[in-house]
Amino acid sequence: MDKEIETLIEEERVRQNAGIELIASENYPSRAVMAAQGSILTDKYAEGYPGRRYYGGCEVVDKVESLAIERAKALFHVAYANVQPHSGSQANFAAYRAMINPGDKVLALTLDDGGHLTHGSNVSFSGNLYDFHFYPLGEDGRIDYDRLSVLLDEVEPALFLAGYSAYPFEIDFARMRRIIDEHDARKGTKTFFMVDMAHIAGIVAAGLCDNPCLYADVVTSTTHKTLRGPRGGLILSNNEELFKKLNSAVFPYAQGGPLEHVIAAKAVAFGEALHPSFKSYMEKVLRNTYACSDELEKLGAEVSGTENHLFLCNVLKSYGIDGKQAQIRLGSIGITVNKNMIHGDTMPPSKTSGIRVGFAAATSRGCSEDEARKIAHLIDKTLRSDDQATIASLKKEVAEIVSSWKDIASLDYPTIA
Ligand SMILES: *Cc1c(COP(=O)(O)O)cnc(C)c1O
Repeated sequence: MDKEIETLIEEERVRQNAGIELIASENYPSRAVMAAQGSILTDKYAEGYPGRRYYGGCEVVDKVESLAIERAKALFHVAYANVQPHSGSQANFAAYRAMINPGDKVLALTLDDGGHLTHGSNVSFSGNLYDFHFYPLGEDGRIDYDRLSVLLDEVEPALFLAGYSAYPFEIDFARMRRIIDEHDARKGTKTFFMVDMAHIAGIVAAGLCDNPCLYADVVTSTTHKTLRGPRGGLILSNNEELFKKLNSAVFPYAQGGPLEHVIAAKAVAFGEALHPSFKSYMEKVLRNTYACSDELEKLGAEVSGTENHLFLCNVLKSYGIDGKQAQIRLGSIGITVNKNMIHGDTMPPSKTSGIRVGFAAATSRGCSEDEARKIAHLIDKTLRSDDQATIASLKKEVAEIVSSWKDIASLDYPTIA
């Protein structure tokens, strides 16, 4: 009935279909996920948790939410799951609340090195409510585990935080747990260990990297990045005592009524991630990311290398233009990326020296390894030249690649359900 919004949704569908989406935090959920999210479940008030609601008529949504919880637990091999957070930021808000008090110290990654706004930025609640201290990456752009140990002793935080937005390498959660335990033994403290796996949740679900739930007190996540579900948040833990606090930190502290339609869509996404084909999807994502990064490096670009679904490219060093210019120029041929700070960046965050490139979304549409290498050539050529004729012909090449890919509004993925 609403022609104005309908037209805009169609306009956005056309935009998404026309381009190669390489923003590492985006993905395309299935029609089943979108159908659940667009369902009548949006009608229902269900403040509280399954079996303990403040409203009547919750017997059906109780089943929906319980199913989402059971599937999340099976997917991540964990004892407790809260599927209500409206977003990753809300999940982090609740997680901090459950473990620490305002003013307490938190040790997290330097924001410029790939942390998230909710990991201590002054423009977020996190940097205002808590006393954040930061660990930098090492010279090689990787976590310096020896330095972590020193900083833990120096800062003595109440909470240690891992999990990042722009970190292209595997994280050794077991080693972090050991470092924290050794620090606690030395100092007679009890430091909480939290992992925000928003970016890598799909890789964890596929069993293709270490599962942080085995080591952290609390694991938070988004459901819409590599996990390929609806936009939303998730909290996991193996600690029963802590989990009671987490539940009341989500509701009633941080949020009101849960979005049962989104929770149903999360359940659908978990069902898809539990299917064996999700692992092969995720393997393809990792292979495509590596292929594009490897090809760009062969072409002479300075790239971070990659062990997951994303990599960084220092476009300032490689092509003499900043991240913002690179983002705009790539956008003009139909390739979407975001500017990103590079370790040790000398440019301001509004410009940056780098771009972040990821393959979770493109792979969902059917991007092959050959195409990922071809995309590296397109990126390289585009960043070398702003000649209008060259740009026009590169734009044609992008259109040719996506013409064989699936429509983003018609994707179906196998499910266990
Ligand atoms: C994306 C992201 C979030 C926040 O997710 P929103 O749903 O946008 O609030 C939190 N932490 C990390 C590490 C992220 O990458």
